[in-house]
Amino acid sequence: MLLNIHNLNIVFPSERGVVQAVKNVSLHVNSGETLGLVGESGSGKSVTALSIMGLLPHPTQVTGEITFHAPNHSILKTQNSKLRGSEIAMIFQEPMTSLNPVFRCGGQVTEAIRLHHSVSKAEARDRALALFEKVRLPDPARIFRAYPHELSGGQKQRVMIAMALAGQPRLLIADEPTTALDVTVQKAILELLRELRAEAGLSMLFISHDLGVISEIADRVAVMRQGEIVETGPVGEVLKNPVHAYTRGLLACRP
Ligand code: ADP
Ligand code: MG
Repeated sequence: MLLNIHNLNIVFPSERGVVQAVKNVSLHVNSGETLGLVGESGSGKSVTALSIMGLLPHPTQVTGEITFHAPNHSILKTQNSKLRGSEIAMIFQEPMTSLNPVFRCGGQVTEAIRLHHSVSKAEARDRALALFEKVRLPDPARIFRAYPHELSGGQKQRVMIAMALAGQPRLLIADEPTTALDVTVQKAILELLRELRAEAGLSMLFISHDLGVISEIADRVAVMRQGEIVETGPVGEVLKNPVHAYTRGLLACRP
């Protein structure tokens, strides 16, 4: 087991009282596995992911256990910021969350590499170009010099994936990485993530509101509704024989 979440509760204080966004959530991701986390908008998927990364804004109340079992370390709390971006990396729906519009793509990925590895600028640059190839960007040298706004949505997403891979993570958290893309680009990004998973032995927590997308990439799925996990199991079984009415609803609204 690589990541284990036990009894996670996330509460946001507000003027009108408190909002409990996540209620007693327990889930795990095995090594080499992709866990799909699916649920309607507002069900608590993103805040669950952010809590793993230790990225929730102050003064959010987070209780429960989040542990990360990396082979070289024993058990590590993910609140440990050293894990962020190296052992665990995250990609978002909107690539501009990760990319800075005023810097060229190559420089940003080079910096990300130097953040995690003490290598020379030239070495980091070579590694960045290799990463651009790895994420199947066409003409890596051109993309290296380009600003983010000069790229298509799918290309930006590939640069963001390259940046996430810079620290050689064991776990990739992908929060709706294909939701903003049109269908063909979406398929290509899913294909890339599947390849990376096989090549780099990446484990993944893949978040989507779309069970169809989850069925294309996940081994197991956890279904989230109003902050709670209502159903979990191997993706094939859950799709074939959903136990919870909410899951049947999600299945019915697939295109
Ligand atoms: P999902 O990713 O499943 O669409 P989220 O995890 O973003 O849903 O949100 C879950 C709930 O938490 C929602 O009700 C949302 O309004 C609330 N929420 C998210 N972030 C904050 C925040 N920073 N402050 C207050 N409430 C928040
Ligand atoms: Mg979300």
